[in-house]
Amino acid sequence: PLVYLNGEFLPLEQARVSVLDRGFLFGDGVYEVIPVYGGQPLRLEEHLTRLDGSLRGIRMTSPLSRAEWAEVVGRLIDGPDDQSVYLQVTRGAGPARDHAIPAGVTPTVFAMGSPIAPVPLAGVRAITLDDIRWRWCNIKAITLLPNVLLRQEAADKGCAEAVLVRDGRVTEGTASNVFAVIEGVIVTPPKGPELLPGITRDLVLELVQAEGLPARERAIPLDEFAGAEEIWITSSTREVLPVVELDGRPVGRGSPGRVWERVSALYQDFKRRLKSGVMA
Ligand code: PMP
Repeated sequence: PLVYLNGEFLPLEQARVSVLDRGFLFGDGVYEVIPVYGGQPLRLEEHLTRLDGSLRGIRMTSPLSRAEWAEVVGRLIDGPDDQSVYLQVTRGAGPARDHAIPAGVTPTVFAMGSPIAPVPLAGVRAITLDDIRWRWCNIKAITLLPNVLLRQEAADKGCAEAVLVRDGRVTEGTASNVFAVIEGVIVTPPKGPELLPGITRDLVLELVQAEGLPARERAIPLDEFAGAEEIWITSSTREVLPVVELDGRPVGRGSPGRVWERVSALYQDFKRRLKSGVMA
């Protein structure tokens, strides 16, 4: 399968960028991950809108039009199996290593497809960690060192995710948004600079609201979160995934909860409709 780099489709091994690329030197760039089911991208418009927002957040504009992005994504889709398409835009290669943004630099645009691993239906374990990231977490920046180190701390403890806590409140996972069921109500932290506005998060909220399940966007103090009946994490590649153990203690009965079962069924149904072309 080919990858996309700066207007060309070519084999991965032939895709090369300059060592002066500011993505390489400074992590100066943004990205998107779009899930694709049955050859159909999920919420492509929403992903591209978020990409525009991330670019605006780092003083860039999209180097490709919507139609051009759609064309790139379409050409990277490889068969009907579950997959994702990764898009990355960096500021490009400057004349020298200088923090300030050089004038007239050409962005580097890269995209590739990847298979999506099946989601573990039995649920996963997670730990909570201090959210040491910067304060513009609504920008989907490639500068992911804190996320990498925090996720590795979770992995070292046999956990699939670290749920991050800032000022005593849960923000999100290192690569996911978080939901909890507290006194029967589905809750998730409100959007803002402390978390990425997840496309899966929005879709889950939409699905549960359409079903008439009680849901609220509100701040979640850690002590409430730790005592929740259910905890889920959401992301494009992990869908809606139950957390069955938090910091070594069982969440609820220590197995995927009843509300998760309903929401997961709604999500799977949404995927089926997407695959069968019943929706745009
Ligand atoms: N928060 C962070 C920090 C993430 O990296 C991701 C996934 N890349 C998410 C949330 C989930 O976003 P989405 O549902 O759009 O994949």
